[in-house]
Amino acid sequence: MLKTLISLGLWALAGWLFGSWLGETSGWIVFTLGLIIMILVSGVQHSQITRWVRNIEQPPPPSVGPWDNVLAAVYRKLRKDETTIRDLERNVQGIMQAAEALPDGAVTLNDRMQITWCNQRGSEHLGLNLETDRDLSILNILRAPAFAKYARQSRWPEPLLLHLNRNGNPRAIMVQLTRYGYRHFLLVSRDVTQLEKLETTRKDFVANVSHELRTPLTVLAGFLETLRDTPDEALTQEQKAHYSNLMMDETRRMQAIVDDLLTLSALESTPAVSGKPVDVAALINSALEQAKALSDGQHQFIENIDNRISLIGSEAELDSAFSNLLTNAVRYTMPDGIITVSWYITERGTACYSVQDTGIGISSKDLSRITERFYRVEGGRPRKPGRTGLGLAISKHVALRHDAELEIESRLGAGSLFSIEFPVERVINKT
Ligand code: ADP
Repeated sequence: MLKTLISLGLWALAGWLFGSWLGETSGWIVFTLGLIIMILVSGVQHSQITRWVRNIEQPPPPSVGPWDNVLAAVYRKLRKDETTIRDLERNVQGIMQAAEALPDGAVTLNDRMQITWCNQRGSEHLGLNLETDRDLSILNILRAPAFAKYARQSRWPEPLLLHLNRNGNPRAIMVQLTRYGYRHFLLVSRDVTQLEKLETTRKDFVANVSHELRTPLTVLAGFLETLRDTPDEALTQEQKAHYSNLMMDETRRMQAIVDDLLTLSALESTPAVSGKPVDVAALINSALEQAKALSDGQHQFIENIDNRISLIGSEAELDSAFSNLLTNAVRYTMPDGIITVSWYITERGTACYSVQDTGIGISSKDLSRITERFYRVEGGRPRKPGRTGLGLAISKHVALRHDAELEIESRLGAGSLFSIEFPVERVINKT
């Protein structure tokens, strides 16, 4: 404003000077010329400002007369706002990245429980697709009646467990609602499928152990009661011996279960040691002796054992795995069946222990679960005497602790092949 007044004053002064020198008319002409120049300059400045406004991130034009201070102030404010917005954007981005990195799912809902946002985990847990499901009510997505009831509560002190089906896979998802901001809701989800499985396994395990021990205990208690309630002279020496033997059998059975449970627990709870060289051929030969004693000449044994191959591992663990597979072959193969034991180097340089039998075989349905503790094959095949139902579970663990896997091929009625292939790093080949 001051600059404009000064310019106006200067042109008026020039007009007055010219007027007093060349006459009044010349003075007015100079003054009018001055006004026209001022208007033109102002027009040019105006168009410079208009051009700058269209491109406001650029610095303002260097000189626009009376507008210089205004533009400088506007530009300063703009730059400050820009920095603030950039900081805010960075913060929002950081928060979004943190929300994405959450191990839990998070879904934000508006006051009508419509989805406004969710992180990747949330969309995986609840099967959401933000592009198509945004603004849809969560009640239309999670259609479980239990969730509808849960969502109607006014407070959610406890989470809710939902069993959902994700692309054909059953999943257990724990969800919890909370309020935030002004009438907004946050739905937090967590996949607890694995935990639930572990809990089921634990419960099954306790039930199985109790069941396995209850039978011999009941038999034992029955005999002890009979002995207590029967007068000594009413039993012959032979009867007493018979009862004692039966009680001994049941006690041994319980002892075997407890021993196997302790072995399994030790295998699970102690870290695997790399071990030392084990003479596998000697181990297999001693396991074969036990198996032949059990077979009592009823089976034919074929032995393909390469005694030049040793293994780095735990002798005691390998012994229990190898002899369990062999004795199983004897127990589950009819008399006259053939049992083939092999210990050889494969083309890949790995070492393989295998036991093949022509026995009763295992159905494909049971095959995937046969190594579970206490698993009984379908059809209630009775457990053979002296068997605990833990042998294959132990063998599987031993294999894993030696960086190997227990492979089973079998067909019902057509025999089975159990094999453990040990990695090259554990093999000592003296050939
Ligand atoms: P068990 O003490 O009952 O033998 P295992 O864990 O060693 O327990 O075996 C589990 C089940 O697998 C057995 O009860 C049996 O039904 C089946 N099984 C194991 N080995 C064989 C085999 N060689 N042939 C057929 N079935 C077998």
